[in-house]
Amino acid sequence: MSSSNTAGQVIRCKAAVAWEAGKPLVIEEVEVAPPKAMEVRLKILFTSLCHTDVYFWEAKGQTPLFPRIFGHEAGGIVESVGEGVTDLKPGDHVLPVFTGECKECRHCKSEESNMCDLLRINTDRGVMLNDGKSRFSINGQPIYHFVGTSTFSEYTVVHVGCVAKINPAAPLDKVCVLSCGISTGLGATLNVAKPKKGSTVAIFGLGAVGLAAAEGARIAGASRIIGVDLNAKRFDEAKKFGVTEFVNPKDHDKPVQEVIAEMTGGGVDRSVECTGSINAMISAFECVHDGWGIAVLVGVPNKDDAFKTHPMNILNERTLKGTFFGNYKPRSDLPSVVERYMNKELELEKFITHEVPFSEINKAFEFMLKGDGLRCIIRMDA
Ligand code: NAD
Ligand code: ZN
Repeated sequence: MSSSNTAGQVIRCKAAVAWEAGKPLVIEEVEVAPPKAMEVRLKILFTSLCHTDVYFWEAKGQTPLFPRIFGHEAGGIVESVGEGVTDLKPGDHVLPVFTGECKECRHCKSEESNMCDLLRINTDRGVMLNDGKSRFSINGQPIYHFVGTSTFSEYTVVHVGCVAKINPAAPLDKVCVLSCGISTGLGATLNVAKPKKGSTVAIFGLGAVGLAAAEGARIAGASRIIGVDLNAKRFDEAKKFGVTEFVNPKDHDKPVQEVIAEMTGGGVDRSVECTGSINAMISAFECVHDGWGIAVLVGVPNKDDAFKTHPMNILNERTLKGTFFGNYKPRSDLPSVVERYMNKELELEKFITHEVPFSEINKAFEFMLKGDGLRCIIRMDA
């Protein structure tokens, strides 16, 4: 990889632009400005679609910001670096991440937090931190960024703190899914819920994030993994991920937390919610055993949602937690998650159910809206 011919220059390339909420993306030629201080420009090779992209593209629950380039789950190569960037160089293999790690703030210095003061997820910001401007434009019209990554573009500019440098031997068409969803689910279980060996774990939502959470429960040695989903089509797929029992809330005329309490003699030891539905969040909390149960929220709620439960549920020694990106610090921890795949401890192939060329990116949206499959890899060079 040589960067000498493009470094410092504007790159013209293809990007999938969302002009309006809920309308198909349009492949356009965009101009991508060179990276400024503490930024890097990446050549994206593979990207995939996560529910969070669909949610902000639909823009039903939040303030819409268009035109915008979505995408935050991806793998690529550093094309050039801006001033002050010392730990990345052209040619490095990287995963961009929607939440960052500045390595300087109190959160970055705390062992417990990955909520970097400078670079934590901000879904409302559509510009770079450095100068409050976008690096993307079409004939001078700025196109907004999304969560600091905007990977539905052949080239993108990202803050250096949102880029994890990984083993160059790792296949980017597989490990790109670790850039968001799979690490999120895995870490929600391994780093936050922390089930003990032999425990009972309920997973709400059996999309890629939930199944990664189930994978974490399997790795932790859970004896029962109860999958909860409204879509019965998910259950067959979930068996491959070690989910041992299934509950479809639609099949019962009482709240799913009561069904689970009956199945488990009072509740599960741990639950992980990966749906984005407020009802599922409340059920996931209320289905954990009193005395020791821990529930972890991962799904992104709607703007006006409020979590309602009787305080007695908390007094009875249940714990409610939440996490972004599975509590992983992107730069420090993601390389080791990639190594879990390289060591065959973690299987990523089973999460990848579709693949489309960049020109057909809208199909990936259709798959997700239909609830068909888990992750669709979008090949940028095709
Ligand atoms: P997905 O759409 O593939 O999967 C969600 C699943 O939840 C679907 O199978 C759906 O049928 C099921 N579901 C919806 N409502 C339900 C309910 N009330 N009860 C039971 N099941 C229900 O999505 P995904 O890509 O796996 O993402 C899951 C969630 O995680 C989304 O909300 C996404 O925005 C969020 N997310 C959060 C983070 C984070 O860092 N916190 C990171 C990535 C994704
Ligand atoms: Zn920080």
